[in-house]
Amino acid sequence: MESIRRLHEEILKREYKAEKQRKEEMRYDQMDCLLLAGEEKTERTIPVCETVFPEKFADLNAVREVLLTPEKQVYALIAPAFMGQFGEGVSPGAIRAALKRAGFSGMVEVAVFADILTLKEALEFDRHVNRDTDFLLTSCCCPVWVSMIRNIYGELVPYMPGAVSPMIAAGRAVKKMHPDAVTVFIGPCLAKKKEAKEPDICDAIDVVLTFQETAMLFEAMGIAPQQMEEDASEHSSGAGRIYARTGGVSEAVVRTVEQLHPGRKIAVRPMQADGGKACKQMIEAIQEGKTEANFFEGMGCVGGCVGGPRALLPREEGSAYVDHYGKEALYQTPLENPYVIELLEKLGFSTVEDFLEKSDLLTRHF
Ligand code: SF4
Repeated sequence: MESIRRLHEEILKREYKAEKQRKEEMRYDQMDCLLLAGEEKTERTIPVCETVFPEKFADLNAVREVLLTPEKQVYALIAPAFMGQFGEGVSPGAIRAALKRAGFSGMVEVAVFADILTLKEALEFDRHVNRDTDFLLTSCCCPVWVSMIRNIYGELVPYMPGAVSPMIAAGRAVKKMHPDAVTVFIGPCLAKKKEAKEPDICDAIDVVLTFQETAMLFEAMGIAPQQMEEDASEHSSGAGRIYARTGGVSEAVVRTVEQLHPGRKIAVRPMQADGGKACKQMIEAIQEGKTEANFFEGMGCVGGCVGGPRALLPREEGSAYVDHYGKEALYQTPLENPYVIELLEKLGFSTVEDFLEKSDLLTRHF
């Protein structure tokens, strides 16, 4: 049995010496993540403002209801596209503080679960792509891409490993550790509202709010994220952080596969498409054998999630923020990231076999 921790330790030995170790120790000192340590309930002070919450904002109303219920623990699960969306210079720590002021018990970066699913996709690639003609489609991120393959190009489903999205993985992990928690996903996407209700995965996320709805919530409650004190607790790698823009999933998988097997005979040859038309053209290229690529990433929105329909920033700006945040990460891949390894163990995965084959939390049957 291949141990995930052993892979992590090997990579640490290979690539990171004293400097990284020093930073890692500092990181552990600062660690106060709700998933590892649990969090205190925050004070709930929400003004009731009927004019800002008309009936048509059903999801906002649902969130307001749970935030007003003192016995509920409500967690915000924020999408990797969040950087820069709530104002220039507003850090993840300030957004966490703003959400806590709003009454959430804590904020989880979904990028950490994008890290976990990057590792899964890299291991799936390693397992399934061993000849020049083998290929895989990424399965985990965009519900528009997934439903396009499932509903229109069913013959390609066998090439798409069954994995849930980072949103669903994050929701399930929070509910595993805090069974009575209410999970609220916050992102730029409308399709995620539908994904959260799909029958085989509807156990993970209770409500989906868009960035626009979340900005309205802050405004209604008089919370200015740019004025909040830092409440820092980030654990994601560069790999998970760049999921939010086109090419991010591919880059993350390329880096992780290279790290797993430097100089692998069949390297990852990625191809990306964003927007419905480009996704269709990429699929036709696969079907007609007109591409040399062996890893295909499709995103429903032009630019990826930073171009999502309810983003607050133009996609080029959102993409620049995401790239900057990715470069700032202390670790660039999930295998380097001690928090990811610890989280995987906490979720019951210590071997590669457990992770790939015995994971109801991360697996989906298409
Ligand atoms: S690319 Fe668009 S549709 Fe797909 S998950 Fe991102 S925001 Fe949603």
